Amino acid sequence: MSQPATRLNSFDVTRVREDFPILHQTVHGHPLVYLDNGATSHKPRAVIDAVSHYYSADNSNVHRGVHALSERATVAYEGARGKVARLVNAGSSREVVFVRGTTEAINLVAASHVRPRITEGDEIVVSHMEHHSNIVPWQLLCKATGARLRVIPVTDAGELDMDAYADLLGPRTRFVSVVHVSNALGTINPVRRIVEMAHAVGAQVMLDGAQAAPHLTVDVQAIGCDFYAFSGHKIYGPTGIGVLWARPELLSGMEPYQGGGEMIRAVSFEETTYAEVPHKFEAGTPNIAGAIGLGAAIDYLDALGLEAVAAHEDDLLRYATEAVSQVPGLRIHGNARDKAGILSFVVDGIHAHDIGTILDRRGVAVRAGHHCAMPLMQRFSVAATARASFALYNTREEVDALVGALLHARELFDR
Ligand code: PLP
Repeated sequence: MSQPATRLNSFDVTRVREDFPILHQTVHGHPLVYLDNGATSHKPRAVIDAVSHYYSADNSNVHRGVHALSERATVAYEGARGKVARLVNAGSSREVVFVRGTTEAINLVAASHVRPRITEGDEIVVSHMEHHSNIVPWQLLCKATGARLRVIPVTDAGELDMDAYADLLGPRTRFVSVVHVSNALGTINPVRRIVEMAHAVGAQVMLDGAQAAPHLTVDVQAIGCDFYAFSGHKIYGPTGIGVLWARPELLSGMEPYQGGGEMIRAVSFEETTYAEVPHKFEAGTPNIAGAIGLGAAIDYLDALGLEAVAAHEDDLLRYATEAVSQVPGLRIHGNARDKAGILSFVVDGIHAHDIGTILDRRGVAVRAGHHCAMPLMQRFSVAATARASFALYNTREEVDALVGALLHARELFDR
């Protein structure tokens, strides 16, 4: 069924796999087939080494010491910020705030930017395909302010209903926050259009790029959005580090998110003045090792070439979409025209959690559940789906292993 793994001339997946130590193990006696990259992706040796080097050679606090180690740590930490800025084509690294992850970035924008500017009856727009982290912060905000949450519907194919979106927008719309790539469907949303339409009614837009940054070239200036967030651990970097990009003029006008060290210029009991952005939003000792590891992940991706990575993942998605059709009773949820790296499905008569468990016994790791998108599951009248999500180190042979394990599950349930 498969072609050789090195079929794509520009991208040698066999060699790439050598960079990921974790992949070379067996699970329940089978070679590990890791297809849960939407939850978190594995780390190449370069990232592990960068974190290890920081702790073994440079460990020190940033922005504080005049000693050599602190200077080295600061250079490495701020260097990582520059790499993030280049990755998303920010105007400058001052537009990049390090946070814990996408969740924290959204909460930061909700608390520091939107909340002080919103009043009762104003409207915030999200979509029906959001991760809980792009629903709950806005619900909390609406509860506290009397603002109203409006929801863009999703079509049967798993695309945003853009006509309904146009109808939702109006003079009360203050803020739109939508996902760039759906973690549960794989849909790539038409973000430029979404932004244009929101801006036309004077609303600002935040994009949740948690699943987009690992698969697509993100250009915040070309997209035209106001805020963009993603998580380091889904883009081959460490956990506990993420990014909020924002337009500089918006960042400057925002209230601090948390107070403490690092985010101040001068403190007295009468008055505190704040550090310049982005430091104003990075209270306390930051995740220095995490930022350095994220910088190494970006270097790694750069060296491979994001376009070659995207082409490889597109090939896997097309191949897998075709291959799983051999499994009787399997239905894919999410058939958008534009998709990235994610295959969500149900199999008639087999609960998604049973699929997850049976696949695991064959060494195949997929996610089974609601994918932190309960409203979307309700929309498709399913309690859960199984989800295979691809990364740059996955192969067609692994897709074959997935299909083999699914056929085995079918057999077990048909007995
Ligand atoms: N948004 C989307 C689309 C996601 O897939 C995820 C994580 O799965 C998140 C937000 C939350 O990311 P984190 O847990 O890294 O903050």
